[in-house]
Amino acid sequence: MKTLTAPIYEIFVSYQGEGLFVGQRQIFVRFSGCNLECSYCDEPAARVKSDLKSLGWAVKKIKELSQKHKTNKISFTGGEPLLYHYFIKNLIKKLGKKYFYILETNGTLYKNLDGIISLIDFVSMDIKLSDYVKKDLLKEHVSFFKKCKQKSYIKMVFDKNIKISELEKIFIEISKIKKDVVFFLQPATINRKIKIDKQLSDEIYKIASDYLKDVRLLPQIHKLIKIK
Ligand code: SF4
Repeated sequence: MKTLTAPIYEIFVSYQGEGLFVGQRQIFVRFSGCNLECSYCDEPAARVKSDLKSLGWAVKKIKELSQKHKTNKISFTGGEPLLYHYFIKNLIKKLGKKYFYILETNGTLYKNLDGIISLIDFVSMDIKLSDYVKKDLLKEHVSFFKKCKQKSYIKMVFDKNIKISELEKIFIEISKIKKDVVFFLQPATINRKIKIDKQLSDEIYKIASDYLKDVRLLPQIHKLIKIK
């Protein structure tokens, strides 16, 4: 039988720097390759095609790190991890139920979610604004969120180039699916620097809060404290 492989950029332990689980020590399984090209992306794994690693190698590495660092939280990240959904499914099957599995995804590959959503404990889903990706992804995001709404929070990155007119439509669509989803507004980190425009953040926060019940402003903490 052919060995199952995927391009894994790295597997490492760090503190979660974004979203609902910020501050938790987690094992990050970072896949390389992405289906999008966001203008603010500073993640080299999105573009570099790294070496293929076997399922056995990943299982061994995760178990070692889990034991050494006393954590059972695993984040699948990238790039876009859902490009390798079949690998993730088999990885979870091998590792079993003693781990807590988090999927960090750009929230577009909703068909690839089907086979693994029942195995994932929580989804960190992005909403990508059209100006940053040069296409309108709202339909994909809506289809995606419908499939994971019971165990998901949403994160939306913005900077000064945000198109405010696009926002209302997005928040309306999300509120129709789950009004009380935790929705993070995340100021972009550019060249490892985070610049928070208070006035702009206030404006976006207000529009979001007109439709959603739990909106939070949170920059990437790991970049602020200069860890991986
Ligand atoms: S989806 Fe994420 S990894 Fe992919 S290009 Fe956008 S920011 Fe980078």
